[in-house]
Amino acid sequence: MAKLKPVYAFEEANSKNRMLLGGKGAGLSEMTRLKLPVPPGFTITTQVCNQYYDNGRKLEKNVIAEVMRNITKIEKKTGKKWNSTNNPLLVSVRSGAAISMPGMMDTILNLGLNDQTVLGLSKKTENPRFAWDSYRRFIQLFGKVVFGVDDEKFDDVLEAAKKKQRVIYDSQLDVNSLKKIVAEYKKICERHTKQKFPSNPNEQLQLAIEAVFKSWMGERAIVYREKNNITKDIANGTAVNIVTMVFGNMGDDCATGVVFTRNGHNGKKEIEGEYLINAQGEDVVAGVRTGKDVIKLKNDMPKSYKELDNACAKLEKHFREPQDIEFTIEQGKFYLLQTRTAKMSAGALVKTSVDMVKEKLIDRDRALTRIPAQQLEALLHKTIDQSKVREFERLAKGIPASPGAASGVAVFDVKRAIAMGEDNKKVILLRKETKPEDVPAFFSSEGILTSQGGKSSHAAIVSRGMGKPCIVGCADLKIDYDNNRCVANGITVLEGEPITINGSTGEVYIGDVPTVEPQVTKDFQTILSWAQNKKKIGVRANADTPDAAKLARKFGAQGIGLCRTERMFNATDRIGLFVDMIMATNVKQRNDVLKKLGHLQKSDFIKILKAMEGYKVTIRLLDPPLHEFLPNPEELMDKIYKNKKGENLSETKKVLERAKELAEINPMMGHRGVRVGITYPEIYRMQIEAVFEAAVELAKKGIDARPQIMIPQVGSISELNHIKEIYQEVKLDMQKKHDMKLKINFGTMLEVVRACLTANELVKTAEFFSFGTNDLTQAVFSFSREDAEGKFLPEYMEKELLEISPFQSIDINGVGSLMKIGISQGRAIKKDLEIGICGEHGGDPNSIKFCHSVNVSYVSASPHRIPIAIVAAAQAVIEQKQRK
Ligand code: PEP
Ligand code: MG
Repeated sequence: MAKLKPVYAFEEANSKNRMLLGGKGAGLSEMTRLKLPVPPGFTITTQVCNQYYDNGRKLEKNVIAEVMRNITKIEKKTGKKWNSTNNPLLVSVRSGAAISMPGMMDTILNLGLNDQTVLGLSKKTENPRFAWDSYRRFIQLFGKVVFGVDDEKFDDVLEAAKKKQRVIYDSQLDVNSLKKIVAEYKKICERHTKQKFPSNPNEQLQLAIEAVFKSWMGERAIVYREKNNITKDIANGTAVNIVTMVFGNMGDDCATGVVFTRNGHNGKKEIEGEYLINAQGEDVVAGVRTGKDVIKLKNDMPKSYKELDNACAKLEKHFREPQDIEFTIEQGKFYLLQTRTAKMSAGALVKTSVDMVKEKLIDRDRALTRIPAQQLEALLHKTIDQSKVREFERLAKGIPASPGAASGVAVFDVKRAIAMGEDNKKVILLRKETKPEDVPAFFSSEGILTSQGGKSSHAAIVSRGMGKPCIVGCADLKIDYDNNRCVANGITVLEGEPITINGSTGEVYIGDVPTVEPQVTKDFQTILSWAQNKKKIGVRANADTPDAAKLARKFGAQGIGLCRTERMFNATDRIGLFVDMIMATNVKQRNDVLKKLGHLQKSDFIKILKAMEGYKVTIRLLDPPLHEFLPNPEELMDKIYKNKKGENLSETKKVLERAKELAEINPMMGHRGVRVGITYPEIYRMQIEAVFEAAVELAKKGIDARPQIMIPQVGSISELNHIKEIYQEVKLDMQKKHDMKLKINFGTMLEVVRACLTANELVKTAEFFSFGTNDLTQAVFSFSREDAEGKFLPEYMEKELLEISPFQSIDINGVGSLMKIGISQGRAIKKDLEIGICGEHGGDPNSIKFCHSVNVSYVSASPHRIPIAIVAAAQAVIEQKQRK
């Protein structure tokens, strides 16, 4: 990259260049160009951040000189003076990467204060209390961010001062107390650094800039980027914004607030947010004080409200996106401090997309691409079962911050929540407020509940981004960390007791409240119908039961790409039969069981085919990883060993013998798929018969059923031809028996490496292909799909050896290359060959985009991911067009 200017004043930057200026810098410069009231300032670029790291964490020489030149420019614009004892210029130092990472990096306010300038500020504002309060805030933030001093140390001093002065709120502290606090705070820092607290604003500024750069590589920022797949091509380094301080805490004609230009929760066209009179921005964001609904600003400060309203409209029109805005009112003067694309719930994204198209603010393509497809999952989240909820006691009500219902055991501690989550326990994290360092616990919790903070607090924003149910500001809830419990309305909940939260209404219940499947709203249907029309690739479902087939169709699936027949036997009344089939020691025994299984299969096929009438249903013959269904030999031995009452154990012993015979060292690469069909042909024969019988029965009723039969784990044409012979025999028998012509396609999965490499042979017999990318990934990496994700893959990701699990998103260079070989070999012989993909990747947006680009005919995803797949498929078309 060419070396660019290190520093840009807001008015001179090219605000389109977010990679260079970061989101915040770009927003500030764009607002400045729009002539909105932004305090003067400048941006140090992300390139400087990268150079800082390239130089072994050192700023290049010219940077500080450039910074100081820009400080002089601000002096001219504001009439204030740097390090002045009359009218001091104070600045904030704010981080800002190309992608917003709320609360992940550091910010310092009120920089430029020292023992002299504080007197200047005091004189100029005629408000010594304000000046000293700003000073003590500065030292605390500076101490924390630059020197790494624990917040608690400062809080203890503050609490002690309040006690001494016998007041409740910080704002009641008088100048004398504040002066003492400042002295104490400085001592805390000096004890920590063993150096004098820096009083020279130039030195303060340099240290602060470096601290912000350092926070880019801070642990919580790294974790956030990892979890949110923020790679270097999306955001590379942070910029630093130096902005003239304006004060929301100079008195009762001052305020600060955070608003969304549309409701971030439900998408309604209304300004939504909160503000605090006589406060600094951090107070709102940190959720220390619960803010007032912004609608009240209309009464409190009508002129400022109007300016806010106008600014919201102007910004939305300009950015064609709802904005998330920070504002400050200083002695009646309105300022904008930040604008960025509002992070909204999935429901709000859908509604605003449809609304903005109606308002002609955006077109349909933009409406579709602005919704991160993955986020739609949140819309498909469960809700509370209203018919059952009355049986449960309501504990409290807070502010609904992120929709969806979740149950789990109450946990009050971040570390315990992480440990329990990793143990697969369902956890609801309960905290007074949350901080960025708590984010790892969000991932392992079902939902989050806080007693403080508002809709713009950390807990709310992070949960919404993750699509996790969340309630904030639940003031009734008195959380007692020392005793691991909370009390609300006279009810005590101990850690480990189950609770349920409804993030859509803010209600908290005692116990495990039943939940119901979500409803698809009209706006959501509109988006889906736009996406259906736009997409080229087909979207089918992985569905193994009639219910799943119905749900998939309701969500817009156009067929079933994978019906795993072994999964049809998971119900408790069937699993026994299935195990009997596996355990049978001879053909006669097996045939007896197969007869019963055949009836069950046929009746299920009929129901599934009916639910998908008019669409193809790909029925995959049995591919049981045997170990999943076998009785556990260890448990059987235990039973035999512990038998004390002389119970007749001959049956158990027989089962143990057979289980040992069938046990495999590496079952995932063992006796499964077509190998079972070859060694026990009667099993595949029964299944093929059941498919034909179901098709005949439906055809006789005039139902347009379109089953096709797919063979798993095939690696050679001889395997496929071997099964094709059975298929042909059954087909001829059936045609004769029912006196009708029957057409059921016969195809194969491509999930063994050799199958992809010899697709030109397989295609001669196969009428269609479907990539089994789960097994293909396992084979290409030689990573056991059973173990890798739980064992070493997390460390691979931590060490950046892999950006994302290849079991989640297709490994384009490896698995993708094999797919391309399979596709080109197949289509070279059969030009219109249907080729699908049915591994878990079929529901992953990036994998879908890859499939679209290599002309895969359809993707197949689990029912709940169908809407995601449809939208991602449409986005693939739009993005491809935009690239051209
Ligand atoms: C696959 O391997 O991708 C596949 C769909 O089959 P299964 O997951 O059932 O092995
Ligand atoms: Mg497979």
